[in-house]
Amino acid sequence: MEVPDRSRKSGTIDLDDGEERDMAAERSRPRTTIDSTVLETIRRRSVTTRVEIARELGVTPATVTNAVKRLMAAGLVIEAGHARSTGGKRASLLRINDEARWALGCTIEPARLSLAAVDTTGALRSRSVLPLPLGREPATIVETLRQGLDLMSARDSLSSATGIGFAMPSTLPAELRTALTATTAELGIPALETDEATCAALGSFWSGEQPEQGLTATVHANSHLAIALLQDGAPIQHAAEAASVLDHVCIDPNGHLCDCGMAGCLNLYAAGSALVEQARHTGLAADLDVNGIEESVNADAVLIALTATRGDDRAEQIIDRAARALMQAVWPVVAGLGVDTVVLTGTWIQAAPAPFSRAATQYARDYGKGLGRPVTVKVSEVQPHPCAVGAAVLALKSFLSTTGD
Ligand SMILES: [Zn+2]
Repeated sequence: MEVPDRSRKSGTIDLDDGEERDMAAERSRPRTTIDSTVLETIRRRSVTTRVEIARELGVTPATVTNAVKRLMAAGLVIEAGHARSTGGKRASLLRINDEARWALGCTIEPARLSLAAVDTTGALRSRSVLPLPLGREPATIVETLRQGLDLMSARDSLSSATGIGFAMPSTLPAELRTALTATTAELGIPALETDEATCAALGSFWSGEQPEQGLTATVHANSHLAIALLQDGAPIQHAAEAASVLDHVCIDPNGHLCDCGMAGCLNLYAAGSALVEQARHTGLAADLDVNGIEESVNADAVLIALTATRGDDRAEQIIDRAARALMQAVWPVVAGLGVDTVVLTGTWIQAAPAPFSRAATQYARDYGKGLGRPVTVKVSEVQPHPCAVGAAVLALKSFLSTTGD
């Protein structure tokens, strides 16, 4: 791979006005933020030079050089040869030292607990999926986490993990959250947690399937239907965790009554239980032997989704209805905030990428006309879904932003 060396030009051109701008930026930003931003830029560009980074971030080459010095001392960045010479000294190429550090991500679904390990580039190193036994007593979930960590430690010593991110379902009791993070703390692994949709969005972004710039919406289906927004790859924080849940957004005021007391809520159309309920009406549930009880509802929904990909009309209609309902629920956000990309994530959505994508894209095409701009819709390809990867990325970012303290 050839990276043109433009160091001689930009090194002098940008300096005059850049220096002042840069000094102001340096005063207002803690040094660790600059390190983290430089690291993120190197990761995104795979291989790059100090000058290219300086130009992209709008800071002086000296600032980048100092940040790179600290990142190299921490073992996070290494030099990888030289750029092609355009006359004069050739610039060193920089890349992430992907062997240096790694982080863990954990997701908890109705019937399984997943762990993923990612390296500093955000690439998946290993993962393990454990069944969560029926009943799911807090002690059982904690024990399952211990077993999962044991499995992961067979490949990498846990003491070298920088941290663990938990993609916590909002239904998880506070005591259980505390017990889970205490378990990892005992092992010396710092823990942090956030909602599943934000983790899914980060996992999808770091896997390269979302644009680097702009506002993107990630829809995540698990115990809840939720949405997370990223601006240029960074999560937009909401005031309360529950604010991202779309379960009770009204799709049809004349629809069936929901448990919440209102009619036509999204979860009656697009939740895993809704897919099973629809399958009951057409006889598909009996054919597939699915019953939609809490422990199996995700697996049941996956089965229905897979059946849709095999061309079963009944299953296709269920998926079409769910995809359109999801799009209807997020559309006010897309239209009102200027979202240009919508990524659909979650096990059963990703089990039927073609039918989901077809229906959602058609919706965006129909209603995009009114917006006067195109909206891209895609189904995530990060398997089994990007949540655990995103949770690990979260732990990694937290570690990286404190490097150099
Ligand atoms: Zn409701």
